[in-house]
Amino acid sequence: MIRCEKLTAGYGGKEVLHEISWEAEKGKFTAVIGPNGSGKSTLLKTILGQTKVFGGDICLEGKPIKEYGSRELAKRIAYLPQHRDDAGISVGRMVLHGRFPYIAFPRRYTVADEEKVGQALKKMGIEALRDKPVSELSGGEKQKVYLAMALVQDAPVFLLDEPAASLDLSCQLSLTAMLKTLSREGKTVVAVTHDLNYALQYADKLLIINKGRAVQYGTTEETLETGVMEKVFGLHISRIRDDNGQTHYCFAVR
Ligand code: ADP
Repeated sequence: MIRCEKLTAGYGGKEVLHEISWEAEKGKFTAVIGPNGSGKSTLLKTILGQTKVFGGDICLEGKPIKEYGSRELAKRIAYLPQHRDDAGISVGRMVLHGRFPYIAFPRRYTVADEEKVGQALKKMGIEALRDKPVSELSGGEKQKVYLAMALVQDAPVFLLDEPAASLDLSCQLSLTAMLKTLSREGKTVVAVTHDLNYALQYADKLLIINKGRAVQYGTTEETLETGVMEKVFGLHISRIRDDNGQTHYCFAVR
C-alpha cells in the first residue's frame, strides 16, 4: 500500500528521518510510537510531501507518491494533522470539504456528497452539531469533526496524528473501535500516538521510531519480546490480565 524505502527526509537542510524502510499494511491498524521529537509526525508529513526528501523512495499502490497530483492523493489518503487553525464555517460545511477531491465541473457538491456528510456525522455522534460554527466547539468535538471530514474522503488510507488527543475516555474507545472497523474493512490505518498502553492494547502493528530511525515493526507480542520498547523509552513494562481476560500494560521508569 504505502512503502518507504531507505527514506531520508527533514526540514531545510536538517535530516530528521534516516533511511526508513517500512510498509504500512492494508487492513491493519498500525500505531506509530516513539519518544517526543523522534520523527513520528515528520514521517506522516513526509508521506504527504510536506517535508524535504533527501533520499530514498515512497510508493503508493506501487507508484512513486510524487507522481500523484494533489486531488488524486487526497482520494487515496485521508490525513488528520495534529493541529489545525479554527475554521469560521459550520460543521456541515467543514466536513463537506472532505468531498473536495471528488467535485467536478461545475464545482458544486451533490446530494450524494451531503448524504455522505450526514452518515459521517452520525458515525461520529455529532449530527446535532451540523449547523454550529467549528470555532465554537470544544477540542474533543473539533477532533470528531475532522475525523468525520477524513471519513467522507473515502480514501483507502488514513494517516492520523494523535487522533485521540483531547477526546475523553469513552470517545477514545469508540474512536478505537471505529479505526479497528475501518482496518477490518480493508483500509490502511496508521495513527501516531504517545499513549503506549493504547498502542500496545489496540494496534495490530507497532512501528517504533527512535531518533529518526525505524527500530521495530511488528505485533505487540513480537515487539515486547524484542525488549526494544523498554530500551527506547527507558521503561519496565509489565502485563496484567483482568477478569475479562484482557491484557493491560503498566510502565515504570527503569
Ligand atoms: P514527534 O512527532 O516524534 O514528536 P516530530 O516529527 O514532530 O517528532 O519532530 C522531529 C524533529 O523535527 C524535532 O527535532 C523537531 O524539532 C523537528 N521539526 C518538526 N517540525 C519542524 C519544522 N517545521 N521545521 C524544522 N524542524 C522541525
